[in-house]
Parts: sequence; structure tokens; C-alpha cells
Amino acid sequence: MRARRGQKAILAARKAFDEGPWRKTTAQDRGKFLFKIGDLIRANAKALAELEVRNMGKPLAEAEYDVADAANCFEFYGGLATKLHGETMSVPANSLSFVVREPVGVCGQIIPWNYPLLMAAWKLAPALAAGCTVVLKPSELTPLTALELAKLILEAGLPAGVVNIVTGPGKDAGEELAESPLVDKIAFTGGTVTGRKIAIAATGNLKKTTLELGGKNPNIVFADADFESAVDGALFAAFANQGEVCSAGSRLLVEKSIHKKFVAAMLAKIPKIKLGHGLTPGVKMGPLVSAAHREKVEAYIAIGKKEAKLVCGGGRPKGLEAGNFVEPTIFDDATPSMRIAREEIFGPVMTVIPFKDENEAVRIANDSDYGLAAGVWTLNVNRGIRVLKELRAGITWLNTYHPTFNEMPWGGYKQSGNGRELGLYGIQAYLETKQININLDEAPLGWY
Ligand code: NAD
Repeated sequence: MRARRGQKAILAARKAFDEGPWRKTTAQDRGKFLFKIGDLIRANAKALAELEVRNMGKPLAEAEYDVADAANCFEFYGGLATKLHGETMSVPANSLSFVVREPVGVCGQIIPWNYPLLMAAWKLAPALAAGCTVVLKPSELTPLTALELAKLILEAGLPAGVVNIVTGPGKDAGEELAESPLVDKIAFTGGTVTGRKIAIAATGNLKKTTLELGGKNPNIVFADADFESAVDGALFAAFANQGEVCSAGSRLLVEKSIHKKFVAAMLAKIPKIKLGHGLTPGVKMGPLVSAAHREKVEAYIAIGKKEAKLVCGGGRPKGLEAGNFVEPTIFDDATPSMRIAREEIFGPVMTVIPFKDENEAVRIANDSDYGLAAGVWTLNVNRGIRVLKELRAGITWLNTYHPTFNEMPWGGYKQSGNGRELGLYGIQAYLETKQININLDEAPLGWY
């Protein structure tokens, strides 16, 4: 039943691309549609933010931020639609030779549950700006805001078949997209294990693939950092969005000379992270997305208790038994080889690893299969830049953590993925490149 529903969506996207008006719509009109979607998101911001809290559990303030960011994303790509361009090359012949960019075709887009609306925006906006048609599959755990967005897209007046949303589990709805010979490109955000499966499934018709995967991101605090900012930043890096963030600073590397004082300062601030329903005023951390995910996080906490020193959290908060809550949890005195220092937990669990000097910090930071994000805290500008340049990660911050801009490329080194989303880079994955050579000679080629 679901497979057939997916097929219907794929055929609709195929028809809209091959025969429909979208590919031939001018860049200016595509841009206008995207601005309209941005406007509609803003006009419905309150309802969307509240729905996102109910959809996935995050605190309202974070959901409001996501909604504004989703509108910005449509507006950024709305503006970019008219700036896409090719180039002319001088070639050693009497030829006018130039390069044009064209949409890739039908794009299958598969997204996770941690930023349901924002991930939909990150996927849809560049694809539509490029002139592609889309079948988007939200996570089976959090389909609601993607479906609301689909209503707004209809209201914006996009032609039929350009955007299609298919709900359902990865096993059928997602696999169908990855395998279908009628899909030209697959864009995936999610876990590394799933990403590998999708990359293999996509080989049937050699689809173009972009993969945004997991991370175990180092956040490095040097003794010469601004202490208060670094404490606050370390907590936010690890615990924003319940720690269910691919770029979470879940590995905190702290210079030995301040390590004890730093951990004590974090512990003093932990009570400020109020847990509760995301719509309750003052709440800073909501429940985890599902009971099954909480069990996964708790299994890692059990491993951590054997490997390192639990200094706070580790359990279910009292009085919140009805939700899938886990307390903000910190393991101290960890070493880089421990599982809690190497594997993505994707919950509110921070692993603290002390280091002795800059070289050791860089070595530990890069000792990972992942390479998504990294943070550095120091007031020594030379050191800050030197260390950032040494880090094998696609997204880096100095003296801050987590700000994410639609204008900047998002993606990872190593097993954190393949390709980049957002910014001028993000649209490249939705464009083909065609060379056109126009012979300016009148005479035949003369080969035979
Ligand atoms: P997941 O890999 O379990 O699922 C992601 C999506 O893939 C869902 O829509 C799911 O239904 C679908 N899916 C699952 N199996 C599939 C299959 N065999 N074929 C096709 N589709 C399939 O990930 P999740 O649990 O939803 O999200 C958490 C993961 O996402 C974490 O590892 C996190 O790091 C990663 N993530 C990465 C980024 C990034 O930008 N790099 C952003 C957010 C989340």
C-alpha cells in the first residue's frame, strides 16, 4: 500500500519535471514562489512553532528559531534562483563554447526527526530554486510540520506534482525513493548506518547522492578562553535540542589546568536547564523523541557508568514520568578510546576529556570516524585560527557554538557525509552542468 503511494508521488514528480511547466518556469518566477513560501511560513510562525514542539518535543524558543530559519532558507534560495549562471570558455578552436546549468531532475529527499521543519526547508528550497521536482519523506516519528509546510506550498500555488510528500517508515517509503530508477538524485540527512544503505540502494541507476550524517563533535576549551562564555557555550553545545543534534558538541575537551574548575562551573549551571513540556514557559529541555530512542541513550549511559565518572544526571527526572525525559548527563575523566567518546549518542550526554596541550587537543579532536563540526574556545587569536585549520571537520566555530547560517555550506568530512547543503554550495548538488559548443566555421570538419 505504502509502496504504491510512494510510486504515485514519484510518477507525479517525474511527470511534473518531464512534461510540466516547472523546468521551464523562469528563474524569477521560481524565486517568487520561494519568497511566497517564506512569507506564508512567517504568517503561520506561531502555529508552526507550537506544532513542532508537539511533533518532536523541543522547547518552544528553539522551535520558534527553527521556523524563522526555515523562512530565511526559502528566501535565501528565492534570491539565489536568479543568480545561477554558467560561463563562457576560450577554447582552441573557432567555437563559441559555454557552460549552462540545468536542474538534475526528480529528487528524493529523506530527512530525520530532530529538525523536522527546518530539514524540509533545507532540502526543498535549493531543489526548487534549481528547477527540480521533489518527493520528500519526513521521519515516520515527526511528519506533522512537513505536512503543514506542504499545505503552505499548495497555497503558494506551485504547479501540481512539483512537491510531493510521502510519509511512512524508512524501510518502505525511504527505500523506495533510494531504489527507484525514476529518481535522479537522492538527498539524505540521518544516521551514518542508514546513509550507507541509501548510498548502496542508489547505485541501481547511479543516482547522484548527498549525505548529511552523524557526528561526535569535539568542543575544545583552552585555559586562556573567556571562562564564563566557554562554560555557557559548552553546555549549550551539548544540550541544545536535548542533545539530539548532529553537530552537538558532545565531546568536551578541556585543558587540564582548568579542567576541575570548568566541570564544577558547568555543574553549578546545570539546574538552570529546566526540563518539561516544550510549551511550558521557562523550559530549556524537552523529552527525547521516542521511548525507543530514550532506551538507546540510556544504554549508552549504562556503558558510560562503567567507562568514566558520572558527575551529573544519568537518570529520568522525577515528576516527569509521563514523557521520554533524560536528565542532562555529564561523564568526566573520559579517555578518547571509550565508546562514550567515540560513538554518537544523540541525546543529552556530554563526555569530558582532559588534555595537556594544543597538540594533544588536536590529536584527540581528529581521532574520530566522524568530521562534522568542532568548536574552539581561546582568546589567543593565533592559536584559535591555527587549531581551526588543523581540525578535520566541515563546520567550525571559534568562541561560540551552534550558530548555523543558510548562507554557509553545511556538511561533514570523513564518515559525516558526502557533499554540502546550504549556501552557494548547497544548490550545486541540484544542478547538472552542460557544455555547449557552437561551431563558427563554415567549412566541413574535413576528417574524411
Ligand atoms: P535515521 O537514519 O534513522 O533516519 C533518517 C531518515 O531515513 C528517516 O526519514 C527514516 O525513515 C529514513 N530511513 C531509515 N532507514 C532507511 C532506509 N533503509 N532507506 C531509506 N530511508 C531510510 O536517522 P534519525 O534517527 O531520524 O536521525 C538521527 C541521525 O540523523 C543522527 O545520526 C544525526 O547525526 C543525523 N543527522 C545529521 C544531520 C546533518 O546535517 N549532518 C542533521 C540532522 C540529523
